[in-house]
Amino acid sequence: CGIIACIGRPEETVDVLLSGLESLEYRGYDSAGIAVRNGDLKVRKREGELENLREAVEANPLSGTFGIGHTRWSTHGPPSDENAHPHTDESGRVAVVHNGIIENYQELRDELEAAGTTFVSDTDTEVVPHLIASYLDDGYDATTSFQRTVSRLEGSYALAVTIAGEKAIFATRQDSPLVLGIDDGAYYLGSDVPAFLQYTRDVVYLEDGQTVTLRPDSWSVTTSDGTVVDPPIHTVDWEA
Ligand code: GLU
Repeated sequence: CGIIACIGRPEETVDVLLSGLESLEYRGYDSAGIAVRNGDLKVRKREGELENLREAVEANPLSGTFGIGHTRWSTHGPPSDENAHPHTDESGRVAVVHNGIIENYQELRDELEAAGTTFVSDTDTEVVPHLIASYLDDGYDATTSFQRTVSRLEGSYALAVTIAGEKAIFATRQDSPLVLGIDDGAYYLGSDVPAFLQYTRDVVYLEDGQTVTLRPDSWSVTTSDGTVVDPPIHTVDWEA
């Protein structure tokens, strides 16, 4: 139900993600998780209060130069550690957080299972990392694998994704909110502005079908066919 992502704060990624999730608690949730990358992907996720996730992080600390975080409000599959986001593919190349509902997930899951993929959760979301991985296996690059996957999805979604080999966060939205925050040398994504309002007030409200790619020193927004757009940057003037 809440998404946060951050790139460009290498020393503080985990703190930024956890405090972003705290700022999104008002939206309601039943589980929470984060994934960070510094080469390798590291994931912690827990059913229940954010405090459970914080304990898991304290017991088993992780660090990464960028990452994604999620508070889940279950629609497909009960609240559990396994069903909490981020979801990954079998090889740990891809991690995904998702708000919304993938309406055609059963068809995609059947197709992936027929090709030998093992699922570990009951969520609609888990088709996304496996589908991205299947395009990587077919030889497509990360950007194309993400775009191709998104073009197969029906329903509502805000997605934030990391893919092995790329110091980048890929994201998109369709009928589910997603906002980009732009700071000096750091970029954020949130399902709502409070997720990163303590760091920056410069925001881009992404439109349905748009894809955003964040890298440590650049951001870009494209339409679903890859055309680069130059979206307006708004300055939020309300108080945190
Ligand atoms: N449909 C997804 C799930 O049940 C995402 C729910 C959400 O928006 O938090 O895991």
